[in-house]
Amino acid sequence: MSEDDPLPPLRDVIRAHGLSARKSLGQNFLLDLNLTRRIARAGGDLSAATVVEVGPGPGGLTRALLMEGARKVVAIERDRRCVEALQDVAAHYPGRLEIIEGDALSVDMAAHLDGRPGTIVANLPYNVGTALLVGWLETEPWPPWWQSLTLMFQKEVAERLIAKPGSAAYGRLSVLTGWRAEARILFDISPKAFTPPPKVVSAVVHLTPRAEPLACHGPTLSRVTAAAFGQRRKMLRQSLKSLGGDTLALIESAGLEPTARAETVSVEGFVALARALDQTRAGSDVRSD
Ligand code: SAM
Repeated sequence: MSEDDPLPPLRDVIRAHGLSARKSLGQNFLLDLNLTRRIARAGGDLSAATVVEVGPGPGGLTRALLMEGARKVVAIERDRRCVEALQDVAAHYPGRLEIIEGDALSVDMAAHLDGRPGTIVANLPYNVGTALLVGWLETEPWPPWWQSLTLMFQKEVAERLIAKPGSAAYGRLSVLTGWRAEARILFDISPKAFTPPPKVVSAVVHLTPRAEPLACHGPTLSRVTAAAFGQRRKMLRQSLKSLGGDTLALIESAGLEPTARAETVSVEGFVALARALDQTRAGSDVRSD
């Protein structure tokens, strides 16, 4: 029992509610409150924000967020057994924990902020972690409703988010992240910290919206990176042919070399390609009118 948190130890909560971990829900629980408090602190000053937590599980990180002063936590959990277990935490912190039973992929998180800035802190279920991140990065309108994202991923995924051109990890996820956010890895977490332990090391990543936005249409950026990285070792003049139209003119109007390969093109380069593609289309629409 911790000094600041008179709730029962998480192991007892897990036992009392029969929370055997389900692989299908990506359940790897963190039971060490010192560690979950460290993750909560990585989310910055939580006293004015509404914190959205995806997948609270038995509540280790949820409790840490509340202990670290979160004004309010909105916790979205798919597993009803965990939702029931969290009721004791909600009772202990009256008015500060809202529990939503549902799939985080389809919950309208911005609708639960009570007019406050939102911030997301989560030990994500690995099976939907990337899809959730992509949704947060593609938020419209921009700037987004969230001030920061403090997220735990498998380390290999975390490295893809922050990868720079020329590295093996650089790909679509790095471009999408760099387009909208500034991201850094804060610290690693050993598999031993989890119950049950996953096979791989995890890492906590902190993302904030880019100070200087790079304007382009998200779906077009997605098309361009899919084409380019679909054949990452081919030159752009070859890999971008699938986009149709005059490939060389497109590459030239983006200011890139036709002989460049996807893995060496900067985020700004991909944004220029997306803008050029949209301009080409707008031009051909006008001509066909
Ligand atoms: N936050 C807890 C912790 O750190 O101990 C649990 C983290 S565990 C990696 C992921 C949690 O996400 C599980 O509790 C799981 O039931 C939940 N989950 C899985 N898929 C989900 C989804 N689509 N929407 C909401 N919660 C989900």
